[in-house]
Amino acid sequence: MAIPFVEDWDLVQTLGEGAYGEVQLAVNRKTEEAVAVKIVDMKRAADCPENIKKEICINKMLTHANIVKFFGHRKEGNVQYLFLEYCRGGELFDRIEPDVGMPEQEAQKFFQQLIAGVEYLHGLGITHRDIKPENLLLDDRDQLKISDFGLATVFRHNGRERLLNKMCGTLPYVAPELIKLRAFHAEPVDIWSCGIVLTAMLAGELPWDQPNDACQEYCDWKETKHYLNPWKKIDSLPLALLCKLLTETPSTRITIPDLKKDRWLTKPLKKVGVKRQRLCSGGATETSEVLSKHIRSDADRFPVALLCSDEKTTHSSTQPEPRTALPSWDSSSSNIDSLVQGKGISFSQPACPENMLLSSQLMGTPGASQNPWQRLVKRMTRFFTNVNAENTYNNLKDKCEKMGYVWKKGCANQVTISTTDRRNNKLIFKVNLVELEERILLDFRLSKGDGLEFKRHFLKIKKKLEDIVAIQKVVVSIT
Ligand code: ATP
Repeated sequence: MAIPFVEDWDLVQTLGEGAYGEVQLAVNRKTEEAVAVKIVDMKRAADCPENIKKEICINKMLTHANIVKFFGHRKEGNVQYLFLEYCRGGELFDRIEPDVGMPEQEAQKFFQQLIAGVEYLHGLGITHRDIKPENLLLDDRDQLKISDFGLATVFRHNGRERLLNKMCGTLPYVAPELIKLRAFHAEPVDIWSCGIVLTAMLAGELPWDQPNDACQEYCDWKETKHYLNPWKKIDSLPLALLCKLLTETPSTRITIPDLKKDRWLTKPLKKVGVKRQRLCSGGATETSEVLSKHIRSDADRFPVALLCSDEKTTHSSTQPEPRTALPSWDSSSSNIDSLVQGKGISFSQPACPENMLLSSQLMGTPGASQNPWQRLVKRMTRFFTNVNAENTYNNLKDKCEKMGYVWKKGCANQVTISTTDRRNNKLIFKVNLVELEERILLDFRLSKGDGLEFKRHFLKIKKKLEDIVAIQKVVVSIT
């Protein structure tokens, strides 16, 4: 796709994909500001052109620490560009260990932040309608940011609430009243999905396919069979909260004011230190540790603000303030301004930004200089191998084919792998082979499907490849 862009801004990496386009990382060559650009192809979104307008309109209303900042938007031909705060910490689901979850104190912190964001939205009369770990992003200080307002809508205006009746969202996260297709209140539906997110964080699995009587797991929950999975993995105090969140009758479901008084949510839990190195999925190592080591060794060459370090920074110079928060645009924000308004436009972007990153790195010229921007994203679904590029590729292909995956070679050093998950839903993910400091990194990214299922498949593949997975030292220090 040819991407018209603005001088000094490079689209350096694909951050994610959605139904109508993709999200790219844009970096200013001079100031090193980083911005996420959501690129929506209006031809692909032709069935619902109003949705993107609504997404933009709602985004403009929002300024909160737990909501992805919106810098503005621009339309070029059939393509809409939305400029958003770049969340370098990736998606929340990446922090969830399949079938395990995450430490309770971490889940508590993320849940508090999620509720703070949802409370703000509801206060403005807005409902998100698609709260799930894939739409909860993390910044470089691990602050949770609610993202993707593509399904959001206004449920209260001038103090008057309207009931909703449209079935939308993601089935395992939707509330039972939504499936019954009657009119329902908006707020309890978001609260319910927060409950499912909390379950995923504490148990590493989703409790059911959908909350109706045809689903055995849901019936078991209603019959309080807490000795079954996922509930038996969860401590009594957070479980008591889940009982209040996942209450079938919306009118008796817990509300945000009561949530804020909940015993577990208000309980001081020992904080996880910021310097902690996370245990990687499946008991192996966390690649961000490896990456940050690489990157630290490059500290002289690359701007500090962009280094992938676990150390707490007091500010992030790469993230400009949102327009509404600034009475006047400072010099850095005027860069974003020109990005949004298209000032000094020059249509000089490479046709495929991923090619720009990867083209010379594999099977091609060895030792070719490597682009520093690609090191920016913290993601757990990747690992280094201990063999060369060709060997890595052949091993991955062989194992994936033996495991029954559909394998498709894509552009540059990318392959697309498809399958169906255990809920029989389509699951598609991409694997990039990247050369980093003469070693090969296999970087997996979800393209379509459920985030936790993707993580499960990633771990299965990683296990099959254990002979070529580079061993790293694990450091776990909880301060
Ligand atoms: P969907 O079809 O799932 O609703 P979408 O087209 O609405 O997707 P998003 O959900 O907004 O797109 O983004 C897709 C993915 O891109 C996210 O899951 C995330 O991995 C990545 N992403 C989106 N926004 C950002 C951001 N601000 N910073 C970093 N990564 C982002």
